[in-house]
Amino acid sequence: MKIRLSAGSALVLGLGHGRCDVLPTTAYVMCGDRCVRSCAFCSQSRASHPGRDDLLSRVTWPEHDANTVLQALEADVSGRVRRVCLQVVDAPGVLETVHRLVKSIRSVRPDLPVCVSASAYGMAEVQILLESGADRVSLPIDAASERVYRLCKSGSYTRTVRLLADAARAFPGRIATHIIVGLGETEHELALCFQHMTDAGVGMGLFAFTPIRGTSMQHASAPGLSTYRVAQVMFYLITRGYARADEFQYSQDGSIRMFHRPWNEIRMLIPPRAFETSGCPDCNRPYYNERPGDVPYNYPRPLGEDEYKEALGLVYSRLEEDEDANALEASGGRCRTR
Ligand code: SF4
Repeated sequence: MKIRLSAGSALVLGLGHGRCDVLPTTAYVMCGDRCVRSCAFCSQSRASHPGRDDLLSRVTWPEHDANTVLQALEADVSGRVRRVCLQVVDAPGVLETVHRLVKSIRSVRPDLPVCVSASAYGMAEVQILLESGADRVSLPIDAASERVYRLCKSGSYTRTVRLLADAARAFPGRIATHIIVGLGETEHELALCFQHMTDAGVGMGLFAFTPIRGTSMQHASAPGLSTYRVAQVMFYLITRGYARADEFQYSQDGSIRMFHRPWNEIRMLIPPRAFETSGCPDCNRPYYNERPGDVPYNYPRPLGEDEYKEALGLVYSRLEEDEDANALEASGGRCRTR
């Protein structure tokens, strides 16, 4: 059986050649070819014509023999692999393949957590994936609202959200989703989505929209870095329980105006890791959304002091707070009422 391994994962497992300044700590495997769904942003969608089959986001996924990958996982020459993630393309019969693969991985590396990111249609499929040995199942909803979902995905937003909530209730701590920033949502929609998923007990991984040639959204723009940094701060505050989405202030167009506290308090709550890759433990996804050399949307490693300051500065640049307000708050006065 052939499976696809991300180029970085192949390097880590000793199955590829080249250099990479940040290596993945998760081995990413793609199962299935050409999806039956028609997500407007995805190169594996049946509606896309990228001219090659080995792309997902901006990562290449060369084919490997499944047994060779299993042997490499067992040997783990780099000692870096701390998780395996199966990214499942929705194709007929693929879940049976995934089921077998998870069992095989668990049999050679029982210590290694395996997560499956797939489009399950019902609770029975989620249960089968978990029973095969996956520690977590991610059902990617991608869009932050039903409005955006209708613009760029097929299927039903409501049904997927309901399945996520039901599955999270049945399997606490084991259900997650992916949210893509930059598909056309407002920051208010994004915050509401983070809140809804947090309240439902659904874990989340944040991604940045990446225009890929041959997809319906190839000419759309990737989100600005400040937009992504704001999303990361909202995500951190909401998922850690520091704030609720309806406590933030938004403009009429849905952009963030201010968080629930003055910036000089918010910045104390935001550690450098708020700007690192989010999702399953040990998932760092280097270069999934950006080119080597670019400032990453999701840092796949700890941030340096300057990188952290720059990230905070980008968030502050988006707020409508002024220095007087912060100075007043710092002096013990009440700076703003709502
Ligand atoms: S968060 Fe990372 S490891 Fe988890 S399902 Fe998503 S891509 Fe895979």
